[in-house]
Amino acid sequence: MTIIGHTLGFPRIGLHRELKYALEYYWNGKIKENKLLEIGRTLRRRHWKQQKDSGIDWIPVGDFAWYDHVLTTSMMLNNIPNRHRTDQENDNLTTLFRISRGYSFNKKLIPPAEMKKWFNTNYHYIVPEFVHTQEFRLNWMQLFDEIDEALSLKYTVKPILLGPISYLWLGKVKGKKFDRLSLLPNLLSVYQEILDILSSKNIDWVQIDEPILVLELPFQWLEAYLSTYEQLHGTVKLLLTTYFDNIYHQLDIITQLKIDGLHADLVSNSDNIPLLHAQLPKHWVLSAGVINGRNIWKTNLHNWFKKLSPLVGERKLWIGSSCSFLHSPIDLNIETKLKKHIKEWFAFAVQKCCEIKMLCTALNAKYADDSTHEDILSEYYVSNNLRSDSSAIYNIQVKKRLEDINEIAHSRCAPYATRVTLQHKKLNLPLLPTTTIGSFPQTKEIRKLRFRFKNNQINKEDYHLNIKNYIKEIIIEQEKLGLDVLVHGEPERNDMVEYFGENLNGFIFTQNGWVQSYGSRCVKPPVIIGDISRSKPITTEWINYAQSLTKKPIKGILTGPVTIMYWSFPREDIQRKTIALQLALSIRDEVIDLEKFGIGIIQIDEPALREGLPLKHSDQKKYLEWAIDVFRITVSSVKDETQIHTHMCYSEFSDIMDSILALDADVISIEASRSDEKMLQSIQYVTKNLNEIGPGIYDIHSPNAPTQNELITKINQLLKYIPKQRLWINPDCGLKTRSWPETKQSLSNMVSAAKLLRKQSYLP
Ligand SMILES: [Zn+2]
Repeated sequence: MTIIGHTLGFPRIGLHRELKYALEYYWNGKIKENKLLEIGRTLRRRHWKQQKDSGIDWIPVGDFAWYDHVLTTSMMLNNIPNRHRTDQENDNLTTLFRISRGYSFNKKLIPPAEMKKWFNTNYHYIVPEFVHTQEFRLNWMQLFDEIDEALSLKYTVKPILLGPISYLWLGKVKGKKFDRLSLLPNLLSVYQEILDILSSKNIDWVQIDEPILVLELPFQWLEAYLSTYEQLHGTVKLLLTTYFDNIYHQLDIITQLKIDGLHADLVSNSDNIPLLHAQLPKHWVLSAGVINGRNIWKTNLHNWFKKLSPLVGERKLWIGSSCSFLHSPIDLNIETKLKKHIKEWFAFAVQKCCEIKMLCTALNAKYADDSTHEDILSEYYVSNNLRSDSSAIYNIQVKKRLEDINEIAHSRCAPYATRVTLQHKKLNLPLLPTTTIGSFPQTKEIRKLRFRFKNNQINKEDYHLNIKNYIKEIIIEQEKLGLDVLVHGEPERNDMVEYFGENLNGFIFTQNGWVQSYGSRCVKPPVIIGDISRSKPITTEWINYAQSLTKKPIKGILTGPVTIMYWSFPREDIQRKTIALQLALSIRDEVIDLEKFGIGIIQIDEPALREGLPLKHSDQKKYLEWAIDVFRITVSSVKDETQIHTHMCYSEFSDIMDSILALDADVISIEASRSDEKMLQSIQYVTKNLNEIGPGIYDIHSPNAPTQNELITKINQLLKYIPKQRLWINPDCGLKTRSWPETKQSLSNMVSAAKLLRKQSYLP
């Protein structure tokens, strides 16, 4: 019984983000389709080879996608929204990109399909749409073509399919309401056809992803698993894969399924190997997901060796990544700027493949009573065990501050009802105050300036002078526009998380640690390696300068601790909560400094607060409690008359409404430009209790500037739900990616709409 090594998928974007650039060139008409196809083929070949060369036995196929793998599945099932269909009889890449990006028709934008976060990751998938008359049929042969491609290169291929029930769960009903599960019989007939084709290609194993099994599912969805796998089983062997959390709560159902193996993520949430071994049918493969697909630290292989050893010879065992390596950067070897002893702590996707191989080899050797490989595993982790001696990691002052954390207030002095009077008196803002979320357009010149400074092509004095000139321009524009609360515009910030990471102790940065966020968009998360502290003020120079230029209040913008943590690769030797508290104390120092210099409005952005939410409801309460505490510690130092804002980039928050209230921010701005009734009711609930709110009144991503009349209609709609004393007027997100002309046009219409409404005596 040889122990097999496999991955659940490999990053598709390419070591140098080749896919990103190819897509963008293709969209801009700079390369033709055949060139794009060729680049895709080159990347797939390279990624298969990298895995094979690292010792992976089963090569995954089906992880490559032109935009997103859920969208590829929709294409394969011929689930294409009518508005995106092309005229041609056969669907092509144009159709695929219409779904993901929208397109213009008769000067009107046909909207793309919705994008949503992939479970609790920072990857976004394209949400499948289901209509009442939905019919699935096999279409779009990408998977089969890629399998042929890999087979022709003599790889042992393990195709990946997104399982039918997860597919239905992840989609949404459009138009007339109906139960998505009613589509299952038709859907299964297509899956059956797919499996038949795979079988005809002599495929042995198929990886069928059913990640929703980690959630707490309604009974009828769980029950559907029984009949589904009864029907699908028999043609090829099925490895049912789950990831991002444990599945112990579902074992009663899972163990009854007609499948041939189960993959469990043993990294995300408490491994219980003995339980799995005891419960799973004896003939099943257990695929142990022990190599973390979502972080970049080396694996303590010897630890896993000890845990898995009792199973050797007892059951068919596979070793794999916890989830797809989609969420990991590709290759540590090309990082040239990391200090040698620090670099030794990490493993990217390629190195993680080698880890899988090492663990397989040691376990296989154990089966043959050979223990030499065990020593290799211990040796491998030595550098990480020595980490505790590193001064880059431990900071005694940070430890001391955390121990004393209960000596500082965890909430503001006075309740909102008292604060609001003081704040309104001090700020003296008109009704329906207008503001923006924080960032202004980042022109090519600004990016170039930062690049030159980073590469020592200009000195600090020149750089600061230039940044201040941009701030001045941004202030002048805002005054011209007539906005009530101004911002400094953030020209000095490359990214809202990276910027703070670069200015705090405890972070390092990679050169090429890119991870796909959606489509061609990638992020390069900072790495938290040690205790976090702030040595000196980060933003005060810029924000104070902005305030010196105007009599209007400047809102100081800071990124919140929870967001900085979730958009970084966190360390794994301490709890998330501890990391967040260290960040909270650092940002708290910044808040204190801003207030000291007379900044009367401070906004803490927490777009990732919701992202950190555990997947199981039963785990959420605990998370929300500490996340709220972290926010409150960040801002509790300020005087009652200082106004605290927070911004969140999502509109679905009815389920965490009470937590948003518990943040006790004075003003929250949210992404609500496309608000529906449910959303408005949520807002009404907030404002009835406390807080002022700025539901974004227009979508900054829309290519057409909203007209004054459209904005008036929107504000009037909001006023039906929100008392006029509590409503702020702002766009739905930062303006960093927008151009100046459209920004000016939209903001000008926004300000004039607010002014017009203020004048009207019939304002409710
Ligand atoms: Zn936003």
